[in-house]
Amino acid sequence: MYKKLLRYSNKIFNLFSIIASITDGRIKPQIPTVKIVAAIIIMHFTNQGSLNNLSQEIAYKNFKADIPSVSTIARTADSMDLEEIRGVGIEIYREARKKKMLEPCHGMWVGVVDGHEQITSPYCKCPYCKSRIVTKKGGIKDIQYYHEFTAFILAGPKISFILDLEPILPGEGEISSSYRLIERVCKNYPKAFKIVIGDGLYLKETVFNLLESHHKYTIAVLKEERRQLFEEANRLSLLSEPKVYRQKKTYYRVWDHSISGCWDGYGKGVRVIVSEEATPKRVHSKDGKSFRDSLNRANWMWVTNLPCPESEYLVNLKNTVRICHSRWQIENQCFNETVNTWNADHVYRHSANAIIVFLLLLFICVNIFNIFRIRNIKDRSIKTKIYLIRLIGIGFHTAGSPLPLVPTIPPIPI
Ligand SMILES: [Zn+2]
Repeated sequence: MYKKLLRYSNKIFNLFSIIASITDGRIKPQIPTVKIVAAIIIMHFTNQGSLNNLSQEIAYKNFKADIPSVSTIARTADSMDLEEIRGVGIEIYREARKKKMLEPCHGMWVGVVDGHEQITSPYCKCPYCKSRIVTKKGGIKDIQYYHEFTAFILAGPKISFILDLEPILPGEGEISSSYRLIERVCKNYPKAFKIVIGDGLYLKETVFNLLESHHKYTIAVLKEERRQLFEEANRLSLLSEPKVYRQKKTYYRVWDHSISGCWDGYGKGVRVIVSEEATPKRVHSKDGKSFRDSLNRANWMWVTNLPCPESEYLVNLKNTVRICHSRWQIENQCFNETVNTWNADHVYRHSANAIIVFLLLLFICVNIFNIFRIRNIKDRSIKTKIYLIRLIGIGFHTAGSPLPLVPTIPPIPI
């Protein structure tokens, strides 16, 4: 399975050739960067989880001559060019989109942006480290260092595709970082998406205006803190009848209000979509012997500048509600899954640049792996993602010559 994945990455995405464009800032490099990038990609693909595990495999297979040492990999990652790695991500995206491997989310191309805390550490080692005081058991106060970043994904019906990330620097909030991220993603992926969804933090005129200048629409969660809009939407909901429908097991009561004059900074009218949802569920009863029926209720409110559809209003409204809900994909498929399954919270090398290098390369690997899994695995005995990842790891461990051929461009002497 390991070799199959490598062949697939090379045949479809030309992966081990396009990574040759990545360079780093070593003054007299003995080993070309492409070999180091290939080693990191192999480490991520085979889910080693740490450079230490990779070095164990290198020692076991006697590959010291073919795979650079762990300390070289770590040192090189300190100065690897991030824009060039992002360029590889863009190439992968282009191929995937051209070959129709990505699908729109309920008829629309939707981007999702959110912030996330990834790494905590008791030591401060780099200029991206943020710090806070934590109180431990017994009241002892200690400084904890941590890293945060914002990520941007493309939501999809089967898989989501991670486009980019940007660190949240010490002294700044999520919005400042996401502002840089959105600017870059709009430049690098101008036609990838039409709508961007964010949580309550993104209900800001600066975000709406920025995306509008790139001809994109915005959806943001409406929370109680935005009193004026929130109360106006609630008042209107009391005065009008909702659209009522059922989708799968969930019953919806949805209001779609056009509101203007309640958002000072923005100055334009917006739509507020209110959705009351109820899903019947069978759960274990408390005695553990039988089942009982219960009802899961959820109330959602979103603000958007998406235009109101002129025809097929109800179909459109249903789709808009589903698109609004696709925001959860960034939590589950990007943050939780990369951490739990792919060890994204591991600090491979603690330096400002290296942390981003390892994450960007991991995202490239996860994107390829996801496409490989849904399009290329026809074997019905492979049911779970974890099992497939294990098969790839075993394939690497047992393969005779497990390294991909990379173009060996000699390093340019300085
Ligand atoms: Zn740090």
